[in-house]
Amino acid sequence: MNTLEVQDLSYSYPDGKPALRAVSMHAVEGECIGIVGPNGAGKSTLLLHLNGILPGDDSRQGKVIVCGEPVTSSNLHEVHRMVGLLFQDPDDQLFCPTVREDVAFGPVQFGFPPLEIDRIVRESLREVGLEGFESRSPHHLSGGEKQRVCLAGILACNPSILVLDEPTSELDPRGRRELARLIRGLPATRVIASHDLELVVDLCSRVYLLDGGEVVASGPAREIFSDEDLMLAHGLEKPHSLHHRHPHP
Ligand code: ADP
Repeated sequence: MNTLEVQDLSYSYPDGKPALRAVSMHAVEGECIGIVGPNGAGKSTLLLHLNGILPGDDSRQGKVIVCGEPVTSSNLHEVHRMVGLLFQDPDDQLFCPTVREDVAFGPVQFGFPPLEIDRIVRESLREVGLEGFESRSPHHLSGGEKQRVCLAGILACNPSILVLDEPTSELDPRGRRELARLIRGLPATRVIASHDLELVVDLCSRVYLLDGGEVVASGPAREIFSDEDLMLAHGLEKPHSLHHRHPHP
């Protein structure tokens, strides 16, 4: 089952500052959930835990369970295969001289044959609207193109769970619309952290609102986002699409 469960997760960075406090959340198979909250709420820290990037040592308490498997230091390899994480900053994810090598990185690690890898790279680039970009240098692309190359690299690994940190931050309106369509059509269980609340309300059935490292509210996206007092108390605003529309005269 492509499920995700976080139980009472607390974490402090090495400087001792708590970034997550007893966070619990879950996503059922095929669900698309949103993580929202002001800057510094702990969204990125939570997402890094979902594929085991932050260490499960003394600074962490609680559990992350991916597809029924508790994440430990001994199964990180499988966890990385099950969970695809799109970093907030594409420059943290791109490190090869060509787009082809970056997108092929996962399939090469999995030991797929070269012809199969070529096919996967081609299809993943097509899915994100970057057909024919194989020979380009990732470092000479626009922010939006870089973000889409990163996503192609994740799609190339066909993860059971897709975790996206601010996936629209670098995209123009058309890129954003296409990304929304792509994410909506994916069969994977999806977790999206974003300030783009219109995207979240459009794609996510449920949301978790984080502030100060804690889950302060959770529930259906429309319900949480329509609670203006709650939203303002945590530095957010009700999305325009949820404001009452007056009928035309
Ligand atoms: P968000 O993604 O919601 O903006 P973060 O998860 O980035 O929040 O940050 C949560 C808290 O952890 C913040 O107080 C932030 O300053 C702190 N933090 C984030 N990354 C680090 C780090 N590498 N070292 C120390 N503190 C960090």
